[in-house]
Amino acid sequence: MALVKTKALVIREQPYQDHDKLLTLFTEKEGKQRAIAKGARRRKSGMASAVQLFAFSEMVYYPGKNFASINEARLIESFYPLRNHIGRMTLASYITELLDVFYDFYQGSDIILKGVTHILYYLSENKAKCDEALALALQLKLCKLNGIGPVLDRCVNCGQAEDLTGFSVGGGGTVCARCKSPGGQKLNAAELDTLRFCMRSPFKLVRDTDFDENMVRRLFTMMNFYISKQLDRKMKSFEFYTSVLSGF
Ligand SMILES: [Zn+2]
Repeated sequence: MALVKTKALVIREQPYQDHDKLLTLFTEKEGKQRAIAKGARRRKSGMASAVQLFAFSEMVYYPGKNFASINEARLIESFYPLRNHIGRMTLASYITELLDVFYDFYQGSDIILKGVTHILYYLSENKAKCDEALALALQLKLCKLNGIGPVLDRCVNCGQAEDLTGFSVGGGGTVCARCKSPGGQKLNAAELDTLRFCMRSPFKLVRDTDFDENMVRRLFTMMNFYISKQLDRKMKSFEFYTSVLSGF
């Protein structure tokens, strides 16, 4: 089979055999891929930095039946400063895990890949006014692009556009005051505005916007719950992230 040359982000890594690494890549040309980096754990490996977690690299690989085999990898950006800040690093892990749960092998999105590399850059260089707002925007955009809502402009139960004061995780979006179940998730007007803003705005605008950080955290947590429910997958890195925030 012909060699594939593509830009790729390393979204998961694990040791494999004595000296190798097994990677999950989010590539520009072929979506999510599993790939082996032979000899990447040898001290003198020329590709070590290009195949570490969060590395964005130009890669050349041979496609394979179970996994691709990386032939060459040239680092474009390592987002190295992420490693000096445990909160940002675990948030970055959550972001790469989102890519993993939303996409099957051979599926991907170059718009999302581009967006995620920008987010990782903003996190690593401490450029954002509110880091979690970027993660919230990514959650919302991934949901929308993959057809799982959330509906934010009408009640998912009766369809009316006014008086949207609740959010139904199972129902797929906002609910009106009449349809909201008594113990259901409440959503005030400012929270609804923030969800809509983060869903539609480019990451760069989200980066430069001042948010109420407590509100963003509530919405980010709510959307994590929403995604887990909709995809029937639990995000392991979310728990780790919240435990890091609370100081273990
Ligand atoms: Zn309703």
